[in-house]
Amino acid sequence: MNNPTKETQTLLQVRGLKTYFPTFQGLVKAVDGIDFELYRGEVLALVGESGSGKSVSAQTVMGLHSPKHTRIEGSIVFEGTELVGAPTKTLLDLRGGGIGMIFQEPMSAFDPLYTVGQQMVESYRLHHPGVSKAQASQLAVEALQSVGIPDSKRRFGEYSHQMSGGMLQRMLIALVIMNKPRMLIADEPTTALDVTIQAQVLRLMKQLQKDTGMAILFITHDLGVVAEMADRVHVMYAGRIVERGTSREVFGTPQHPYTKGLLASKVQPEHKNGDLPFIPGVVPRAFEFPEGCRFHPRCSFATDRCRTELPTDSFPLAAQPSHGVACHLYPAKEPV
Ligand code: SF4
Repeated sequence: MNNPTKETQTLLQVRGLKTYFPTFQGLVKAVDGIDFELYRGEVLALVGESGSGKSVSAQTVMGLHSPKHTRIEGSIVFEGTELVGAPTKTLLDLRGGGIGMIFQEPMSAFDPLYTVGQQMVESYRLHHPGVSKAQASQLAVEALQSVGIPDSKRRFGEYSHQMSGGMLQRMLIALVIMNKPRMLIADEPTTALDVTIQAQVLRLMKQLQKDTGMAILFITHDLGVVAEMADRVHVMYAGRIVERGTSREVFGTPQHPYTKGLLASKVQPEHKNGDLPFIPGVVPRAFEFPEGCRFHPRCSFATDRCRTELPTDSFPLAAQPSHGVACHLYPAKEPV
């Protein structure tokens, strides 16, 4: 990057990241060479269908894949610290205060044998050993209040099975933001919630992001959620980023045939039975990606070149330098 402002604002820089899982069926290339940055205070969405590699990318950043069972290559630098190959202690130290994560299923994040409050206190004191239980309890109750949990003192002493899904997701957000992370990874945080609760949780996250200045890496398959939340969007397909830009660019002037197909597939009121546009075919399995552009079996613009040559870089469009696309329909980036 040439822009010094952006450089100083970069919180996370990912370069050439590959996450491969050796399996009996073959090498699963879940993430296969992606680059991106997350700037301080922004919301970046990684969007794609199931199997695109977006969640595995986030889990790799968080250090959730054991190096014993996973092949991880490339570089993930968070605030100047390289995380690929870093000692477990470095990763554990970063979780909480540096990087927080919320998941699709909040129920699985809480231990049913302990109260939510006990777990919030324990998690906080893990990262702040000098803080007493009483102080941590007070902070936990305040965090529950800040995410709109009514009667938060009583809820603090209850168990996860006593909460609704929406309330539990807000409690998980409270647990995470108690540690004031500079970066939050939110992996499909509203997918399991009712639509009305989804909107509440999204509003809450947006508000917390504004109040605290934390950056959010938002993982979702839901384009409506992206439009609501994200400053910038990266579209993933078969382990790679195929389009990147601001939300306005990607939604307003999509360039990659896959992005165009995704946006066209959104249900609109004018669609009648049977006339909803769709992308033919399915996402290829991660151990048998096709040669060339991985989208070519589904792409109506595919040429012979597409069937043999992988678009290996993201090619900025001249009119919008922040808007890039990896597709042979567009001119290659000039070598620097
Ligand atoms: Fe379609 Fe070719 Fe572009 Fe791939 S590279 S999206 S096959 S036109």
